Amino acid sequence: MRFEGIAASPGIALGPVYRLEREHLAVREVVIASEDVVREIERFRSALDSARRDLTGIRDGIASELGEHEAHIYDAHLMMLDDPDLVQTVEKGIREDRRNAEFVFRAYMGRVAAHFENLENEYLRERRDDIVDCERRVLRELLGAASGQASDLREPSIVVAHELGPSEVAMLPRDLVLAFVLEVGGRTSHGAIVARGRGIPAVVSVRDALAKLERGMPVMVDGFEGVVVSDPDADARARYEARRLRLEARTRALATMQAERAETRDGHRIELAANLELPEDVYGAEASGADGIGLFRTEFFYLNRTDLPNEEEQYAAYRMVIERMQGRPVLFRTMDLGGDKVASYLGVTHETNPFLGMRGIRLALTSPEMFRTQIRAIYRASAHGKARLMFPMVSSVDELLRALQLRDEAIADLRARGCAFDPNVEVGIMIETPSAVWMADALAQHAQFFSIGSNDLIQYTLAMDRDNERLSHLYEPLDPAVLRGIHHTIRAAHDAGRWVGVCGEMAGDPQTAVLLLGLGVDELSVSCFDVPRIKAAIRSVRHEAAQALASEALACHSAAAVRRLVRDRVNALLPSFLAPERAGEAP
Ligand code: PEP
Ligand code: MG
Repeated sequence: MRFEGIAASPGIALGPVYRLEREHLAVREVVIASEDVVREIERFRSALDSARRDLTGIRDGIASELGEHEAHIYDAHLMMLDDPDLVQTVEKGIREDRRNAEFVFRAYMGRVAAHFENLENEYLRERRDDIVDCERRVLRELLGAASGQASDLREPSIVVAHELGPSEVAMLPRDLVLAFVLEVGGRTSHGAIVARGRGIPAVVSVRDALAKLERGMPVMVDGFEGVVVSDPDADARARYEARRLRLEARTRALATMQAERAETRDGHRIELAANLELPEDVYGAEASGADGIGLFRTEFFYLNRTDLPNEEEQYAAYRMVIERMQGRPVLFRTMDLGGDKVASYLGVTHETNPFLGMRGIRLALTSPEMFRTQIRAIYRASAHGKARLMFPMVSSVDELLRALQLRDEAIADLRARGCAFDPNVEVGIMIETPSAVWMADALAQHAQFFSIGSNDLIQYTLAMDRDNERLSHLYEPLDPAVLRGIHHTIRAAHDAGRWVGVCGEMAGDPQTAVLLLGLGVDELSVSCFDVPRIKAAIRSVRHEAAQALASEALACHSAAAVRRLVRDRVNALLPSFLAPERAGEAP
């Protein structure tokens, strides 16, 4: 039987099913006598303490096994348990409603989880899993339930479950878990993130997996394509084995890339940088062999919290990142809030079309002090390494001039305070809107570089919502309209002596990266995982061949034609270990 789901963590696996079913944490409502209130509160506090101790142990274990980068999820869980609102509300509930700790606690966590579930933003919605994970941990302490749910997992297996929180994914012994198959979740669920970090293949959102997969049944998991096959026959097993060997060879080949430069065969070098969402991710970026950070999405700093981050807090985080990169450039994108990244404390009102509303630089310009505070923090960090500054979603020259004025005011504040900073920080903009593309020559008079945000440029050029799964087959990076916009931008920038990068997802595809190289980009910024693959792609081609490919692509009339062209031309040039990993490929 074949099941389809979402490819959440790459890799393949073959083994017997181990069904991981949730222990039933039954919570009864019990009325507490007034003389027992203090004891009940004590019981709650000690459950929180034990959960905290457990989590700290897991966190430290993960930090040493996978690095600080992966451990930050547990910091978020620890923060949840330390949240003063949680402690106060539950203690107040026990005291005033005279109910048992587990009942009041579960009700509180249920409200928090429901809030996250209703959010539009997929990333934040998936944080609900973290809340459920924390809730179960504390309930287990309160109810005295054993947490060794997988105590009879004795042989390497494919773990099948309805859902798993990140700490559950982290706690299962690595050598006994061949892959995960989960009934719910998405690619950015923290469970999936930890699975990727531990190198465990995963397919999520597989309907009816628990109903159809029996314990011990052999299954094949394909974490590249999001496919699970039960009871594979001899042919399928032979194909699997050939594929496994191919993947091993790929991994070995990519490991040699780390210290190499992103340079074509005929000596044309570009900067290959990594994208960063959270400061802790800098460890992964550093290890990937990136030339720097080409996009630090600082807005995540503003999300998942109830108040604005102050200058000191931002400065400390930015400084940590810049110091860690040891002189390699770190490109700070100023807050790109609005759209799908909404912080309630900013008081953004409901908008019918948030992606066409108060977003990016538009929103930042309406809160000058908040914006200057961030710029001051970035400039102070610039004293400790090489910083670049970039404004998102610019759609007119006036916006850029206003942003630069606020930047100047922030610098004047720092001068008045006698703070150290680098006065030569390069300041650029993202090219994400068609208006920015067509005004690129004028914008280049005031911006020192451009970074093309293709994720948004595609959606605004093609008028297709990047988050709408019904349009995902049409949302096309290789559409000639997108490529012509990119080409126009690069020409305008180069004419003005400015450099241009691409930091959207399209830069992370090896074939597309070669096309971008041919279009003339000077820099690419991709996820850490993609850095070695893109480096390998650049190193396998000649610049001239990439340029010839780009001119032909610009003359195409459809995305399908460009796709065919790229496939025919680039596949032959790239090493076989960069071809998309597909089940049907010949060994
Ligand atoms: C982009 O739009 O391509 C980009 C890099 O910004 P974000 O994905 O954060 O909108
Ligand atoms: Mg964008």
